[in-house]
Amino acid sequence: MSGLVRSQEEIAARVKALESMLIEKGIMTTQAIDRLVEIYENEVGPQLGAKVVAKAWSDPEFKARLLADATGACAELGIGGLQGEDMVVVEDTAEVHNVIVCTLCSCYPWPVLGLPPNWYKEPQYRAAIVREPRKVLAESFGYTVSDYVEIRVWDSSSEMRYWVLPARPAGTDGWTEDQLAELVSRDSMIGVGPAIEATA
Ligand code: FE
Repeated sequence: MSGLVRSQEEIAARVKALESMLIEKGIMTTQAIDRLVEIYENEVGPQLGAKVVAKAWSDPEFKARLLADATGACAELGIGGLQGEDMVVVEDTAEVHNVIVCTLCSCYPWPVLGLPPNWYKEPQYRAAIVREPRKVLAESFGYTVSDYVEIRVWDSSSEMRYWVLPARPAGTDGWTEDQLAELVSRDSMIGVGPAIEATA
């Protein structure tokens, strides 16, 4: 499997070469590429996933649709696009905690979470979270999952991109979706942390 591990410089050079080729062939323009970069740096991101989660916490029918067809439910809110074509949302409950990984590379639901954090792409996380999820969550993320709660690890691929519907924090009855969305962290949608606690 040589050639799988590449340096940042090598990746940057390859991207540059691809970019030049796309422009040269008239497939892309520099402006289009700049615009794509801007979208994935500033516009899509965990704030969109948070909006979806807050709606699911507030609207049981939307939640049912989200769990049945995440891509379709997100499209209702105008959220979707590249790397979000086949999303699957898994729900945290009192009995089950979910966490996502891509053991092969770094598949991730871009439209709702933005670009993956560096640690998500690192071999240590990708291997260890599968072998010892409870330990990794506690030691690397300071997140202790009760021994009574089963941890399920979902391995994403380019065909299936998982993300987590975290449990709604206690003490949030009557909160608006905008208020609830503030409690939904990126990490809670990856499953390496809980939603943020409500403060009085
Ligand atoms: Fe991947």
